[in-house]
Amino acid sequence: MTRELSRRRQWVLQSEIRNMSIECDKIGGINLSQGVCDMELPAAIRKAAQEAIEKGYNSYTRYDGISELREAIAIKQERFTGLKYDADTEIVVSSGSTGALYCACLALLNPQDEVIVFEPYYGYHVSTLIATQATPVYVKTIPPDWTFTCDDLEKARTSRTKGIIVNTPSNPSGKVFTYNELSIIADFADKYDLFVFTDEIYEHFVYDGAKHIAPATLAGMYEKTITISGVSKCFSITGWRIGYCLCDKKWAQTIGYFNDLVYVCAPAPLQKGVAEGLSILDDSYYLNMSVQYEKKRDALCSALKDAGLEPSIPGGAYYVLADISPLPGNTSKEKVMYLLDKTKVASVPGEAFYHDETGRNLARFCFAKEDNVIDNACRMLKAL
Ligand code: GLN
Repeated sequence: MTRELSRRRQWVLQSEIRNMSIECDKIGGINLSQGVCDMELPAAIRKAAQEAIEKGYNSYTRYDGISELREAIAIKQERFTGLKYDADTEIVVSSGSTGALYCACLALLNPQDEVIVFEPYYGYHVSTLIATQATPVYVKTIPPDWTFTCDDLEKARTSRTKGIIVNTPSNPSGKVFTYNELSIIADFADKYDLFVFTDEIYEHFVYDGAKHIAPATLAGMYEKTITISGVSKCFSITGWRIGYCLCDKKWAQTIGYFNDLVYVCAPAPLQKGVAEGLSILDDSYYLNMSVQYEKKRDALCSALKDAGLEPSIPGGAYYVLADISPLPGNTSKEKVMYLLDKTKVASVPGEAFYHDETGRNLARFCFAKEDNVIDNACRMLKAL
């Protein structure tokens, strides 16, 4: 027996998203790489969490979250999607939506099970599959609308396929899946009896009148959909790590047991703060957020265009993929490092979102930033 790192170490590396934050910090640059979302959080949420700490609400909670938070999530989900989940048996509060997906994969996938992932993908989805010993199988979506066909799904499927991940709105492309596309996925999941793991963390970030459709709302999808979302982005509390999973009780209990194993529970006082936020913020809060972010998107896209880096205009989420082929360098990493050096603006190399070289002329820019930061970044980009 040799005393060395496990064989699993090859499955995890520091993400390129974090790498670029580090490169950016080194030069005191403008961080449009990691989706940090450093806007101000709603004061009521901050106060409720502070109060919870002061009142001594600092111990473990139930493994799947405090009842008032699960109830607030159930009410909000019904309000926005019409879907009814039982707060006691069908909701698991986890450590961010990342934690929720990890626990869902541990609960529902066996080693070597295959899960279809659309490309470009969010790297944590793929890494979570690999870390739980499942195998990602890629379906490339085609710009400008990041489309796919039923045939693409059929070609990716094998007898080992057990699920598909749907990230809508998508990170990094900003694609908002249409009803037709979700119907294709629903029919496919029905035909082959698959799980549909969603990541709807950007559900409230939709632009140009687009509407987020929760995949679980499609006929026959409730029972097979593991809906994953969270409040990191919509409340600008990415460091609080409060996310959740909604699904049929057949699956929820075991997902909760894995959540207990890995995290014991999500942070207690922060659950209180989020429960308060979900209860008091009405629809106008979320609508207003989309309006504000749409302006940021427009400013950033226009600066990228002026800089000669053609943006793919996102319909949702808060990232822009831009064509960085005019920049010198052989890889997207070399190109974004050049851009960081020349403009102080950090982005994520496109290759981080593909399993092959497709992303070599792409970079992802995040616009979840205060307006003055966006303005600054735009000025620097335009001067390129
Ligand atoms: N979801 C955010 C992003 O894509 C944050 C990722 C992270 O740091 N894990 O940038």
